[in-house]
Amino acid sequence: MKIHPTVTLSRVEQAVERRMSSLDNPGFCVACGADADGCEPDAREYECEVCGELAVYGAAEVLMELA
Ligand SMILES: [Zn+2]
Repeated sequence: MKIHPTVTLSRVEQAVERRMSSLDNPGFCVACGADADGCEPDAREYECEVCGELAVYGAAEVLMELA
């Protein structure tokens, strides 16, 4: 998976923590780096609202790629 350079490990870790401490379901578009919401933790290839690519992944999925 190619991950946009603005999707950094610290950003993804914060999103995973936010998911545990709130009802947010954060994710990231790995094509353009946009934040996405309403993602299942294991979401893969959801459509990005910003760039239209099927490149939105749940935070936990992106974390596994970066770790
Ligand atoms: Zn995008």
